[in-house]
This record gives sequence, structure tokens and C-alpha cells, in this order.
Amino acid sequence: MYLSPEQIQNAINTAYTNHAKETGGANADYIPFLKNVDSNLCGLSVVTVDGQVFSAGDADTPFAIESISKVCTLALAMNDWGQQAIMDKIGVDATGMPFNSVMALELHGDKPMSPLVNAGAISAASLIKADSREHRWSRILQMQSDLTGTDIQISDELNESEQTTNFHNRAIAWLLYAAGYLYCEPDEAVDVYTRQCSTLLTTKALATMGATIAAGGINPITNKDVIKEAYCASILAEMTMEGMYDTAGDWAFTVGLPAKSGVGGGILAVVPGVMAIAGFSPPLDPIGNSVRGQKMVASVAQTLGFNLYQCARKR
Ligand code: GLU
Repeated sequence: MYLSPEQIQNAINTAYTNHAKETGGANADYIPFLKNVDSNLCGLSVVTVDGQVFSAGDADTPFAIESISKVCTLALAMNDWGQQAIMDKIGVDATGMPFNSVMALELHGDKPMSPLVNAGAISAASLIKADSREHRWSRILQMQSDLTGTDIQISDELNESEQTTNFHNRAIAWLLYAAGYLYCEPDEAVDVYTRQCSTLLTTKALATMGATIAAGGINPITNKDVIKEAYCASILAEMTMEGMYDTAGDWAFTVGLPAKSGVGGGILAVVPGVMAIAGFSPPLDPIGNSVRGQKMVASVAQTLGFNLYQCARKR
């Protein structure tokens, strides 16, 4: 299906106009930095697999990547280890529970089950092949930069805000360590995981990251080969199962695209082989997904006719 640039820009403009002023939700407040971000911010971008970029609103405003970083680290862990090792060492099934659930661990012999919940993401960070803490961190940061096609930087203020409040994640790391699902020292794993959540990016950069996966692992802006082609489908499947927290099922049921959101208010949906749609607005629903972001991204997908499970009748 050919879409003209005007069709894509119009779909974005409509989504932004209809939902940018939507009320409801609240900024994440368990990380002090996030509580203080301007709740009115709202941005939307599309990047296509041939490198076209479309945007509306605050698409150049940097925001916290948070949980969306889990997709980048999963991609790097897959490049390092391949598909089977991720299944064995972390697991790839939906937990059906909140992203930081300890009960989900207890129910599965402390196996994290998914690299897109906190436990599995801390485990994935610990799996990255590295000979020191700084080497581990630099490889993860480089992957974020390669996927987004920008020079991604950590926010020292956000990192400080997280490092001084991440006690629950530290407890999770020790549980994983005790059960043999952590592959470096717990302190190093949580430190690096917390840093990976504390980088800033724009919706343009986020959409570029999604378009890189949509394009089979080649960044359409820089042409760099970032993820092995064979792993992109697995990453998208994992996003479908666990990317939208406890409402991943609702999202698949209604929108039908692999997606990942973060408590910084970002959300990324991928149309395999075609494009990625990225939204940002800080107020979250009680589950942790951006209220405006979900509506804007769903609107663009629906206007352009993208749903992976769509069954067109022969006419
Ligand atoms: N840094 C956050 C945490 O570990 C990320 C959570 C998220 O965005 O889901 O709790």
C-alpha cells in the first residue's frame, strides 16, 4: 500500500489536534525527576523504513526513555547471545503482572520471564558481554545511539533521582542473583540498568529506533546495520506480549501493533516493514502508559489502516 507524505502528515496532524489537550492521568511520581516534567508537553513522530520523518507538537523536546530502553538492551543481548539463550536465561513470556512485580518472580522460580519487565531487563543488562561496568554501560548507550541515529546522552539529574530511589529494583536484582538469573554482580546490574533508563530522547529519535526494527535492523537515517535481521521479529513479538505493561493484551486487541511504553510518557509502536509511530506526553494512566500517547499513536495507526491482525476480505 502506497502512502503519500501528505497522507502521513495529515494523520499525524489529526491525531495531535484531537488528543494533545486530552486531560486525565498523572506524571509518574515514584521517580522525583519525572514528577516535575511539564505535563502539557505532547509530541508525535513517524519515521518510515525509507527514512522519511514526520512530526507534530513537541517532537524535538527530550524526555526520559525509561522502560523503552529495555527494547534496546534486549536487541543488544540478542546480538550477543542469540534467540535460544534469551529464552533460557531470561524467558520470553508475558508475566501478566505489573512491571516491577516480585510476585511474578515468585510464581516462576525467580525466572524473570520477560526482558521487558524490570526483573528481565536487569537480567538482560547483566547478560551484555563486557569486561567492566563502564564497558557494559558504554555498549548499552552505544546501542541506544545506533538505534535512534542520535548521540544519546544520560541525564545526570534523572540518573541521580533514580539511583537514590531504586531500592525495589535492588531487591529484585538480589532475588535474581540468588536464583542464578543474574550474570554479573547485582550492584553493577542495577546501576547499569538504572543508567539505561536515565537517558533522554525525542519522539523523532524514538520513531527512528522503531523504524530501525521495522526495517529489519538497519537504521533508515544512518544506514547502519544495528540488529541482526533474524532477531527483529522476536523483539516485536516480545513487545506485543509485554510492551504495554498489564494492558498489552488490550492494546493488541484494539490497535494490533507491537508497542513499548515507558513511565517517562513515551510510547513507540512499530508497523513491520513500513514505519514506526512514536508519541510522548507525561501524564500516565494507572497502569503506566501515557494517556495522550496511546490515543495519538492508535489514531495514526487507525487512520493509515495499520493493524497486524487485520483480515481483509477478498472483494
Ligand atoms: N526506571 C524505571 C524503573 O525501573 C522504569 C520503569 C518503566 O518505565 O516502566 O522503575
